[in-house]
Amino acid sequence: MLLQDLIQADLPFLRSLRQDLHAYPELGFEEERTSEIVANLLEEAGLRVHRGLGKTGVVGTLRVGNGKRTIGLRADMDALAMPEQAKRPYTSRFPGKMHACGHDGHTTLLLGAARHLAKTRNFSGTVHFIFQPAEEGRGGAKKMVEDGLFDLFPCDAVYGLHNMPGLAVDEMAVTAGPQLASSDSWFVTFKGVGTHGAKPHLGKDPITASGHFLSALQTIVGRVVNPLQPAVVSACSVQAGDPRALNVIPDVVEIGGTARAYSAEVRDQLEAEIGRLARGVAAMFDIDVVYEFRRRIPPVINHPDATARALKAAQAVCGSKVVTNFEPSTAGDDFAFLSEAAPGAYVWLGNGPAVDGALHHNAAYDFNDKAIPTGVAFWVALVEQELAA
Ligand SMILES: [Zn+2]
Ligand SMILES: [Zn+2]
Repeated sequence: MLLQDLIQADLPFLRSLRQDLHAYPELGFEEERTSEIVANLLEEAGLRVHRGLGKTGVVGTLRVGNGKRTIGLRADMDALAMPEQAKRPYTSRFPGKMHACGHDGHTTLLLGAARHLAKTRNFSGTVHFIFQPAEEGRGGAKKMVEDGLFDLFPCDAVYGLHNMPGLAVDEMAVTAGPQLASSDSWFVTFKGVGTHGAKPHLGKDPITASGHFLSALQTIVGRVVNPLQPAVVSACSVQAGDPRALNVIPDVVEIGGTARAYSAEVRDQLEAEIGRLARGVAAMFDIDVVYEFRRRIPPVINHPDATARALKAAQAVCGSKVVTNFEPSTAGDDFAFLSEAAPGAYVWLGNGPAVDGALHHNAAYDFNDKAIPTGVAFWVALVEQELAA
């Protein structure tokens, strides 16, 4: 019996599971119901289960034969704080929460693979099925790592998968190198000496200084970073003074923004250069400055070896319908914390055409159940090839 046929046999169960998860979406670190379902199904399938890692995270372990190699497969479980607009039989029952990024699908795919592999056991080695909470900006992967994910479950390689509208449901994209950007926040506070707006010579004006800083900011990307390396620096918040006090030069201007890069080197460069400009401008105007660069999520960079293994599995499932030069996304994914700890690959699974133009994080978005067989078959093929008996 072909792999795809075996997976089709579990399809009615997986489809109803996916729709159930969609109907009861839970936000980051609140995935109590979801992780209970995940842990129970893993236990039923005969896996060893660790609950409560990273608050609501779950790890299921399947060990077969005496193979030494160990791999980790990651699915995220959380939903977004937004109302679902589309009418479906399984529309969100929780107002203001919805699975608009397809993590209900990711959870289902990995459970489908665990159920299948626990039955067929056609490999030799260890698989850790990692069900992560709080991918959507709440730091779930970092929390799992801090709680000892890789001390308890060391991995020789880690893999992540995300659905992607625009690719067909029997299509995947597997590309080496950068996949998702780093996402960091920065804060610059210029501290001058406030004074009467009519007597600027009696104070030190931080507003004029911040104007110089803001106009110089884009020279980092334009003049300092290698033009062949993508980078973004944006100032997104400026707070100073009061529109009801237009005769007052304030003491302080607070500026904040985001910085994005696809390599550790450029990320370091952005951190250093924003600070250099801020200090330089402060020196020029003889005012004080406080600079903070807050690292949030590193870039996801696919490791060549792990990518080659993922590509082979994708080709076993999708034949020639595997895109190997997929453009990186400017979004971030905290899978980066896993792939910093072990060689990793992050792949895209087609979700079919965008229905009514609904893309990720749109109030009408939905994971496409027709992608379940491809996604489950990919995870199964990856394990059977990676840990060949
Ligand atoms: Zn998302
Ligand atoms: Zn997502």
